[in-house]
Amino acid sequence: MGTDTATLEDFRLETRNWIEENYPDTLKAPMRAGEHVNGGRNCEFFHPDAKLWLDRMAEKGWTCPEWPKKYGGGGLDEAGSRVLSEELARQNCRPPLVGMGRFMLGPTLLQYGTHEQRLEHLPKIARGEIRWCQGYSEPNAGSDLASLQMRAEDKGDYYLVNGSKLWTSDAHLGDWMFCLVRTDFGAKKHSGISIVLFDRTDPAVTVTPITLISGYSVFYETTIDDLKVPKTSLVGTENEGWAIAKFLLTHERVMISGAFGPTVRPVSEIGKEYLGEENGRIADPIVRDQIAKQDMDDHAFALTSKRYDELTEKGASAGAASSMLKHVGTKFAKNKMELLISISGNQALGWEGEGFNDQELNLARTWLRSKGYSIEGGTSEIMLNIIATRVLGLPKN
Ligand SMILES: Cc1cc2nc3c(=O)[nH]c(=O)nc-3n(C[C@H](O)[C@H](O)[C@H](O)COP(=O)(O)OP(=O)(O)OC[C@H]3O[C@@H](n4cnc5c(N)ncnc54)[C@H](O)[C@@H]3O)c2cc1C
Repeated sequence: MGTDTATLEDFRLETRNWIEENYPDTLKAPMRAGEHVNGGRNCEFFHPDAKLWLDRMAEKGWTCPEWPKKYGGGGLDEAGSRVLSEELARQNCRPPLVGMGRFMLGPTLLQYGTHEQRLEHLPKIARGEIRWCQGYSEPNAGSDLASLQMRAEDKGDYYLVNGSKLWTSDAHLGDWMFCLVRTDFGAKKHSGISIVLFDRTDPAVTVTPITLISGYSVFYETTIDDLKVPKTSLVGTENEGWAIAKFLLTHERVMISGAFGPTVRPVSEIGKEYLGEENGRIADPIVRDQIAKQDMDDHAFALTSKRYDELTEKGASAGAASSMLKHVGTKFAKNKMELLISISGNQALGWEGEGFNDQELNLARTWLRSKGYSIEGGTSEIMLNIIATRVLGLPKN
């Protein structure tokens, strides 16, 4: 769509009306942890109308508004996508679909994939039919990701893949995996890496849960034993996967920077929901001061994210900027969770049992989950290293 003001204003009005008519009333309640829709063959819709909302949005191409229509997207430009997200936020709509396919692999295939790969995978992502998981980290390759050792041997028209990946989030729910493998075993570590796609449910792929102290398992170890991956599933050029891996990481970092807090609702609003406006704690001048500061930080961050989107849409490099967004966004999101906990006091520290309502239990879980924000997708120390060397020009140590 065009970007002149009259057209955009028409689009805004149409969008507003469409959302009013199509957003299910039952979803107009605060989202609880775990209610995000990641899609996939095994998708559980914790809210009955979340599927209806996903289908309605997918039908318009608005689960992935900026993707071309031929690949299941909405064909909107940056200004149109921005209007859509503003209107969705205005009516407090839940995102119809989140996840690694939507925000990480999709943009990567649009940049590096073949037309056939895009046609095969993107519409299924946009409709929420296939969920993707990420095979990057290994037992000896986390921050130093380029040390990865998973082998993919050239067998003519396919690769034979062997090795293991660690910390694969929700691997048991992932239908497909994008995976970094080593295809040249003698090359320097950043060379000789490739990125391949495969069906995670292939019998050659085993996922083993890593149980956390909470008793839950969100992470898996993925072991691959003689998996045959056709060469048509290689993304980009063999041995040149490091550049693609970094491109995908910039999208992951931007996704993480906004997913958990700063671009979501102001803490002043959420605070009122947890406590009610008359609650004594929220009337405390020190707490009010902290809330105002958090809201200002979040607002400034949202504006910076908007500027980032506009600049990258015009072709500016996303690399180091995505590290800044990741570092600052996750810091603000963690602060926001700390503040909500401090506002709520002891009631926010319940894990289970009577005496705590759903919202309080949800808050405790989200607060603990927030501790991972500054680790996943690259730790804050690594983000600061990137900023130090690439933005400030400091020497590498
Ligand atoms: C919630 C969550 C979800 C995740 N999901 C996935 C997933 O789906 N798929 C996947 O592949 N991986 C996933 N990961 C793994 C994640 O990418 C790694 O945990 C992360 O890259 C750090 O690697 P590591 O855990 O091996 O820590 P290490 O690399 O061993 O780092 C340990 C500590 O040393 C610091 N450190 C390391 N090197 C440097 C340096 N050069 N300078 C300064 N400090 C340094 C780090 O900042 C960190 O504090 C997930 C992690 C989390 C927390």
